Amino acid sequence: MRKKIVAGNWKCNTTVQEGIELAKAVNELVAKEGNKNVVVVLGTPFTHLTSVVASVDASRIGVASQNCAAEAKGAFTGEVSAAMVKSTGAGYVILGHSERREYYNETSETLNKKVALSFANGLTPIYCCGEPLSIREAGTQNGFVKTQLDETIFNLSAEEFLKLVIAYEPIWAIGTGVTASTQQAQDMLAYIRSLIADKFGAAVAEETSILYGGSCNAKNAAELFSQPDIDGGLIGGASLKAEDFIQIINGF
Ligand code: PEP
Repeated sequence: MRKKIVAGNWKCNTTVQEGIELAKAVNELVAKEGNKNVVVVLGTPFTHLTSVVASVDASRIGVASQNCAAEAKGAFTGEVSAAMVKSTGAGYVILGHSERREYYNETSETLNKKVALSFANGLTPIYCCGEPLSIREAGTQNGFVKTQLDETIFNLSAEEFLKLVIAYEPIWAIGTGVTASTQQAQDMLAYIRSLIADKFGAAVAEETSILYGGSCNAKNAAELFSQPDIDGGLIGGASLKAEDFIQIINGF
């Protein structure tokens, strides 16, 4: 059965010390009252990975970087490779976040390299897709998301594809306080699952965890997670407060 996953994306927030405090607070709440059926992941800045891994119970909480280099190693000043991420003890890597696509010119070509390197180093990609507002307003969001997938993770083998997690994040809902309606989120996730079924077969589609992201919070998580195709959330702002994050985890 596919996993239910709630993953936090801390973005460029918290110092290492603040991140350790946050991770410990989440760890304590998860141990005390966290839904055991939910895989919890903390997506931290690179600088925090080793310390956060050491601050949480690995049997309950996974740790993710928010990116990795498109090259394995070498003269790429400032880059952090998938092997380096893996060596911190992190198990996941968020790839293709819309902020990286928009502000750092991340293309499908770059993402294909990052996905391959993540697999080569035993990391689970949390692969993001999602349309901007103009596309949603034009009503062409399905085609837009299909192209994002066709150009990248739909070229993987079924075996590899089964190892990743997809996060659908409409850009107009990220950090805006505007959440996609439950129906909009469900419709898109069902559509993505139908594309996976067409490409890799029904069994693979059934096994793939697809998350919703975009202003998901302690108040709206339960309704979103009640939908048949929504397997959890990628959570930005609300993952920075342990009390909110645990409510989202327990939204299932
Ligand atoms: C995100 O950036 O992945 C995200 C979902 O952000 P927020 O929850 O703040 O909208």
